[in-house]
Amino acid sequence: MVDHPLPVATAYQPPSAKPWREALAPALDFLLPHLCAHCRCPIGREPGVCAACWAQLSFITAPQCHCCGLPFPYDLGPEALCVECLERPPSFTLARAALRYDDAAKPLLLGFKHADKIHWRGLLTKMLLPQAAPILAGAAGMIPVPLHWSRLLRRKYNQAALIAQELSALAAIPHRPELLRRDKRTTPHVAMNRKQRQKNVTGAFSVPKKFHTDVAGKTWVLIDDVYTTGSTVDACSKALLEAGASEIRVLCLARVCHDI
Ligand SMILES: [Zn+2]
Repeated sequence: MVDHPLPVATAYQPPSAKPWREALAPALDFLLPHLCAHCRCPIGREPGVCAACWAQLSFITAPQCHCCGLPFPYDLGPEALCVECLERPPSFTLARAALRYDDAAKPLLLGFKHADKIHWRGLLTKMLLPQAAPILAGAAGMIPVPLHWSRLLRRKYNQAALIAQELSALAAIPHRPELLRRDKRTTPHVAMNRKQRQKNVTGAFSVPKKFHTDVAGKTWVLIDDVYTTGSTVDACSKALLEAGASEIRVLCLARVCHDI
């Protein structure tokens, strides 16, 4: 197994604010306002979405599967589980996502992941907060789902690490990206079914031996952008549990929702 040739924590670091930039900010905001992430209309000083597009976003709320957070159309009770979690219990105990991954959410998520829209990270992190409390309670730290070093080199940043960094600062919980690494460059999951996704990520993640003592006996929160079948976060969770973690929880920006 080849050691990671880049620091695993590598992620875009925003440049420190310059005085001239601060002084010119009101004029620049007037001349070059931020555009809505979805419809591209001007929205002003902060990056985000306009009121009309915000209203289109579908935030996930209870009732939902107690384990994976899949929203239910009606209340089945506080401990109710979806069919997937009943038939194939995942290795993590709790997973929650802010948004349904639908046509309104896709431009935000895809722009953030593939189009360098890293200035949306603050907005996206704040969207997580309503779902975050039970996931973060008692956690020792948060760990972004790692990219393979070759993908990180090409993309220049790990979108999950940016969210974990922001949330770590807001929640005062350590960000520990070095605890998990992706050893295999997996094929993108688009158009794969659950079985193919599971096979694709089997053995893809590991905890470096030198961090086993850090990981052992603690609860960790995995951070990812989109939860589709849960195969990737489950593979990450298994690697952390094998290294001795006591519990793994998951927080994602959005999730694919299907009927129960
Ligand atoms: Zn479930």
